[in-house]
Amino acid sequence: MAKKPIDTPAFTARMRAKIVRPETREILISRLAGSDQEADLTVPPNCDGLGRVRHFRRATPDGWPLNPLPIDPAARALGRPGGDLARAQVFQNAACGWRCWYCFVPFEMLTGNESLGAWMTADRLVSLYAAEHDRPDIIDLSGGSPDLTPEWVIWMMDALENAGLTTSTYLWSDDNLSTDYVFTELTDAQRDQLVGYPNYGRVCCFKGFDAESFAFNTGARPDDFEAQFGRFGRYLDLGLDVYGYVTLTGADLAAVTRGVPALLDRLQTLDPNLPLRLVPLSIGNFSPTQEREARGGQHLFEAAAPVQAAAIALWTTEMERRFPAEQLELAIVDVPLRSRT
Ligand code: SF4
Repeated sequence: MAKKPIDTPAFTARMRAKIVRPETREILISRLAGSDQEADLTVPPNCDGLGRVRHFRRATPDGWPLNPLPIDPAARALGRPGGDLARAQVFQNAACGWRCWYCFVPFEMLTGNESLGAWMTADRLVSLYAAEHDRPDIIDLSGGSPDLTPEWVIWMMDALENAGLTTSTYLWSDDNLSTDYVFTELTDAQRDQLVGYPNYGRVCCFKGFDAESFAFNTGARPDDFEAQFGRFGRYLDLGLDVYGYVTLTGADLAAVTRGVPALLDRLQTLDPNLPLRLVPLSIGNFSPTQEREARGGQHLFEAAAPVQAAAIALWTTEMERRFPAEQLELAIVDVPLRSRT
């Protein structure tokens, strides 16, 4: 029997309720030490087992565009050279409203399970970070799904300010475009703070190139594909410093020819330059995916690999057709957006 698709509004609301305590300004943070995710880390967890240092690399597999995120936005904000690698202090909130087959986080760490995490205030997270020897100058709020708890970003801004670290640390947060909570859970003053904080960037991940590939990737309903664009458009209207990732996996090779140009068209309705602020991500066959496939008896990576290969080839051709070379060569931080001129 086919699996019932995720009801995104209902499920995200349930997940949010499990991982945020607004009264005490606490977030449920995943404990990485001792978790199934720990085996995939290249360096041991830090910050009392609640954090990890991630190495972001500009280099990508052959045929894929370079990945300057968050290397270049952080370097620009902090006034230092970018280079080809950036270290970031990562914390993960403990829930997500979707279940992407390629997610590198074990699904049991996406359910808001208190026994797999710790309730933390931003002040405590920042003091753990500040106490780390050789700490990175980037903090990445990841998940899970940080857009379930938009207060977390605000509280981290406050905590960094309290610790005197606002100008020496770049704050970067992930957003899975699964909720409107920035607009329903934050106040006007908090939204102003998001936009006005000097060292902050937000990266949103579009999942799939059409409604069917989105549903294949996330387990959610196909119509949530379109909702992603509405949410991103609202961030643009707000004036946030936003960037994007896009995953180009799907199950239907024949859908690429129509889907990829249509995706670029849709992005350009939000801002003609938006595709230049997006980085397509190559999905690899990592161990959580292999384990899920072994359990479920499905071969999703095998089905998706030729689709993403065709999709990135067409994406590259389309980008070259749509933008002159000098625009394609712009640093991602210099791509003008209508909302940030
Ligand atoms: S949206 Fe992100 S965190 Fe959630 S399941 Fe998908 S890849 Fe994992």
